[in-house]
Amino acid sequence: MFNHYYTMNRLLTFAGIFSLFLLFSLAPARAERPLSWFLDDIAYDSSVPGPEEFFGFQVGEWHLSHTLLVNYMEKIAETSPRATIYEYARSHEFRPLVHLVITSEENHRNLEEIRERHLMLADPEQSTGLDISEMPLIVFLGYGVHGNEPSAHNAAPLVAYYLAAGQDEKVTEILENMVVIIDPSLNPDGQDRFASWVNRHRSMTLNPDPNNREFRDVWPGSRTNHYWFDLNRDWLPVQHPESRGRIAAYHHWMPNINTDHHEFGSNSTFFFQPGEPARVNPRTPRRTDELTMDVAKFHAAAFDRIGQTYYTQQGFDDFYYGKGSSYPDVQGSIGILFEQASSRGHRRETIHGILDFAETIRNQVIVSLSTIEAGLHMRETLLDHLRWFFASAVEEAAREDFAAYIFGDPNDMSRNMLFIDVLKTHRIQVYDISGSVNIDGNSYNPGKAWLVPLQQPQYRLIQSIFEKALWFEDSLFYDVSTWTKPLAMNIPYGKVSSGRQFAGLKGNPVDSLLWPSGAVHGSRSDVAYLFSRDDFYAPKALYYLQKNGLRTHVATRPFSMDINGEIKDFGYGSIMVPVQTQDVDSEKVYALIQEAARYAGIHIYPVHTSLVREGIHLGSGSFMMLRKPEVLLLIGQGTNSREAGEVWHLLDQHFHMPVTKVELDHFSALDLSRYTVMVMPSGSYNSLGENDQRKLGRWLREGGTIVALGSANRWLHRQEFVKIDFVETPGFDEPDMLPYSSMQDYRGARRISGSIFRTKIDVTHPLFYGYHRDILPVHVAGTLAAKPDEGNPFANPMIFTDDALLSGYVWGPYENFRDNTAGVLLHRTGRGTIVSLMDNPNFRGFWFGTGSMFMNAIFFGDVIRL
Ligand SMILES: [Zn+2]
Repeated sequence: MFNHYYTMNRLLTFAGIFSLFLLFSLAPARAERPLSWFLDDIAYDSSVPGPEEFFGFQVGEWHLSHTLLVNYMEKIAETSPRATIYEYARSHEFRPLVHLVITSEENHRNLEEIRERHLMLADPEQSTGLDISEMPLIVFLGYGVHGNEPSAHNAAPLVAYYLAAGQDEKVTEILENMVVIIDPSLNPDGQDRFASWVNRHRSMTLNPDPNNREFRDVWPGSRTNHYWFDLNRDWLPVQHPESRGRIAAYHHWMPNINTDHHEFGSNSTFFFQPGEPARVNPRTPRRTDELTMDVAKFHAAAFDRIGQTYYTQQGFDDFYYGKGSSYPDVQGSIGILFEQASSRGHRRETIHGILDFAETIRNQVIVSLSTIEAGLHMRETLLDHLRWFFASAVEEAAREDFAAYIFGDPNDMSRNMLFIDVLKTHRIQVYDISGSVNIDGNSYNPGKAWLVPLQQPQYRLIQSIFEKALWFEDSLFYDVSTWTKPLAMNIPYGKVSSGRQFAGLKGNPVDSLLWPSGAVHGSRSDVAYLFSRDDFYAPKALYYLQKNGLRTHVATRPFSMDINGEIKDFGYGSIMVPVQTQDVDSEKVYALIQEAARYAGIHIYPVHTSLVREGIHLGSGSFMMLRKPEVLLLIGQGTNSREAGEVWHLLDQHFHMPVTKVELDHFSALDLSRYTVMVMPSGSYNSLGENDQRKLGRWLREGGTIVALGSANRWLHRQEFVKIDFVETPGFDEPDMLPYSSMQDYRGARRISGSIFRTKIDVTHPLFYGYHRDILPVHVAGTLAAKPDEGNPFANPMIFTDDALLSGYVWGPYENFRDNTAGVLLHRTGRGTIVSLMDNPNFRGFWFGTGSMFMNAIFFGDVIRL
């Protein structure tokens, strides 16, 4: 055995050497791309391995896996005295996110002192007298937030090697004046998905035909992270570990420049910021944009030297602070978006001829170094900008006609904490309130409401989080035009005036989050346990009990009971868990109830009688029996992967519920009987044929619940599962003649990229159990709209109000297009229910206001009667 194994090993080794030889002889491209093709031809420290030596191939020949990339960064930190590495987070799939810190050995010895001194620039109370003449600049180079934009990640090793091993006066000057922090992969899970795809389709003979499978990454693609979220929208919502770690690391350093390297269409050239001047967020000072332009001149000069064409100040905006190139703009930094024409795979045909992966990488290296060059020349200006930015923020805040925002939902601590968590992640100071107050009809009480004073360094970000946006200089939005967080989270908020009101309210700073710990208020019961639907995480407790086999009921009417000597009100949607009808004994029920309360952080009340003080008694038929949701999520080609990912993330991460994700082309082979709820994200669904439709109809009539989002309802309508009266976008007088040059802007202005509208909801309806206010803000993108069901007033529990636009840009003639249209439509077929949600309730994973409605559709869809 041993001998045989040994022989096999020897054979493999010989085979390996032989194939390496083949590789060399068949890949003359290698000789065309020596290191000096990517970087200046300088001497390097021989104790630090170059990328080619370390990987065994030159950068650009294969797409780097995340492991190889991080291994190389670690190797540099191990071998170069100029570099250190630290891990700042783990991705969902547990890949490390790292920062490679490169600076002179001298700076490295004083790194902590440098960092602390630098942070003083961002604190107006400490920054005034600071001498910046000797302070190093902090530069962040951020690569590849989109997994399928590979030139970004693959450029990182070259830049790192140049700085960590280069033996050159220029490099010395850079390292003495700068701390360069390389983030080699902002989205490790997406990077690996993509690298694996293109590498597995690579041929020895590189084939640039765009039809080749190498260029056609399968659904959902590799742009996004594990849950199919675009991490380049998550800098503000911070719903993912990658972003949470990144924002913490950002505030740990407060860089002066932050680059964000991307790719765009293969037939493009190269774009660098500044973007469209009219599409800069109004909270970003003009000066930031001007400095971005000063930096841009260095990219221009570098590209002119090699004849690479490019453009700037066009096509891309700088509006939404959830992006990697815009968030730094509201942190006293210069955020720079780079977009390189993509080769996607290894070599691709484009209208400009063949584009090699290596060429795209070289351009990313060039702009990384031109950014550093700009930093060298603008060091003091940029350090001063950071100081000015925060000092002027506090001054601007002092000129506002109010002192603070106040917010708090008295009925739901979890949503309050989810919001405070976001604020604290962004280093926004939040305070308890020390007295009660009523503002604009909302009452705020200590322990249930909080203050965010304007006069603090994060003033500009605070405004952009709380304010409504209704006036815009321009009408084109690459992304959403508004993200007012308290509206998204459906939390009451208002403005606190300066002077006595503010002074009387401001309590202690909130240092740590007080997540509700949950409790069972009383001893073991032989009758029943009750809990309210109000808390965002109530369905988590409900599912936990159902999963453990307990029978559960939902109250379709309110009631009140005497509990522990007090009258306790239970609203619509309260959950009742009877004891005697369970398959386990009362001890076991009590144990499960205790676990559920702790696990979900909610309050559960044992009761010892079915007799209530007011309302329905516990044995009433108005307590409807619930069934445990078995959720099927339709996915795959033709469905919207972002919406699907948001559903998956919500159910999995927040409620710990299993979700069966099924591709449309597997539908015909599927046994539907084991599922109770089917979620259909927006999509075309044209691949479901007649047999599939018959099967779906049968399952529905037998009691299935369909929760359909957005355009999925169009398909359900076309296939006659539902009857929906869709509203066409309003007509308007089109001029007979307009300048051709204005066409793009004219048509683009009609797009609704993301705005917030107001709806009126029925809080007695199962979809809105747990809601207390009858107004609910909704995120709207696109122009899908439908009339309420005229035949049944109980099928329209959510209708857009008059003048429904709350915040965001909508083209003039469309301004009222959602007024009085349906937000939700309901249909019954046999014993089945279809819940048609016209808009996406789970947008970017932070719309918890409408998220609760979505959860109600999952849990209560089958108790809805029409
Ligand atoms: Zn991108």
